[in-house]
Amino acid sequence: MSETEGPYFKPSSPERRSLLEPGLKGPQVFLTGSVISIACRPVARALLDFWQADARGEYDNSGFRLRGHQYTDMMGRYQLETVLPGRYGGRTRHIHVKVQAPGTSVLTTQLYFPGERANLEDWLFRRELLMATREGADRIEAQFGFVIHA
Ligand code: FE
Repeated sequence: MSETEGPYFKPSSPERRSLLEPGLKGPQVFLTGSVISIACRPVARALLDFWQADARGEYDNSGFRLRGHQYTDMMGRYQLETVLPGRYGGRTRHIHVKVQAPGTSVLTTQLYFPGERANLEDWLFRRELLMATREGADRIEAQFGFVIHA
C-alpha cells in the first residue's frame, strides 16, 4: 500500500546496501526481504530507494546521509544496513522507501517498527506496513516483503 513520500525525499541517492557510517548514533538495524509480484513471482532488478531520519529525528537535506538505493537480486531479495530512525514531530519511527519494478510505476511507502507506542498516535501509521523485528546479537533484525504490480 502506498503512503506519502513526505517533505524529505531527495533524488539521486548513492547506490549502496549499507547506510552505516562513522558518527551515526543509535541501535543498528539489518532489514532484509524481497519484492514479489501480485502473482507471487520474485521481481529481479527492482529499484528500492530508502531514506530516513537519524537517531535525533533529523534528515540530511544537504547531503545523502541515511539515503541510498539498491536493486533486488535475481530472487527479488534486498538487504539494508542502517540505524534505528528517531521520532520527529508527530511521527513514529519509520523508514521511507520507493519501490519500482523495471518498466512499472513507482510505489512510495513507509515501513514501521512494531511495539512503538507512538505508532498509535501517528495518523500515517498502517499495520500492513509493520516490519517483523527481533533482537539479534548486536542489532535489530527486521524483515519486510513488498508485493507490487509488476
Ligand atoms: Fe519521514
